Amino acid sequence: MKNLLALNWKMNKTPTEARAWAQELGEKLTAGEAELAVMAPAVTLSALAANLPAGVGFGGQDVSAHESGAYTGEISAAMLKDVGATYAVVGHSERRDYHAETDAVVAAKARQAQANGLTPIVCVGEKLDVREADEHVPFTLAQLAGSLEGVGTDVVIAYEPVWAIGTGKTATAEDAEELAAAIRGALEERYGSAAADIRVLYGGSVKPDNIASICAKPNVNGALVGGASLKVADVLGMNDAL
Ligand code: 13P
Repeated sequence: MKNLLALNWKMNKTPTEARAWAQELGEKLTAGEAELAVMAPAVTLSALAANLPAGVGFGGQDVSAHESGAYTGEISAAMLKDVGATYAVVGHSERRDYHAETDAVVAAKARQAQANGLTPIVCVGEKLDVREADEHVPFTLAQLAGSLEGVGTDVVIAYEPVWAIGTGKTATAEDAEELAAAIRGALEERYGSAAADIRVLYGGSVKPDNIASICAKPNVNGALVGGASLKVADVLGMNDAL
């Protein structure tokens, strides 16, 4: 399975900056082994659609749980699809924490994405106190089960331990593999043989110098990258390492 290098810009880059970034990527990107996709602020997506090099996809960082209607400020899956997106991140820890998103809401968002032809990237992962209590595997699997309620197999899972996000503290490749393998087992129970085709990503302080060892693990099929996604040079470094 091809690794997915999913870049999560978070709340960074104006449309003008996104256009310049996409053009620079187009000038410098050499064919790599990984699939590349940019998870970008909704207002930048048209600029990405017009300027990303061929073969580089993009998606939303969130999507509404509702089809359409009186939901001020929300972006629907149909809107993302219409602008050319192929992915939508759902359940990022920053959405769960700062916007009180529950597993049930995350699952509803993932179902909406799938109903409109987008592949949801469902994020799960524990906080530091849970890891210190050695509860990270059962915690993450319970979060996964709740976040996949009614969700089909066209899905990507991102394991992002919250303590490793933006902290410079990367989980070791072994930590990433422990959870990726546990997640793969849960996917097999849920989806049977189709689980073999579902990508499980690792996220949390991934950079050009640690991506290769993490993604070399048998159950890790790519990375969801925040900070190191902002500069084209870092993205090229990660792409080359995969
Ligand atoms: P960092 O790569 O900045 O740690 O962020 C990870 C993340 O949250 C990606 O979704």
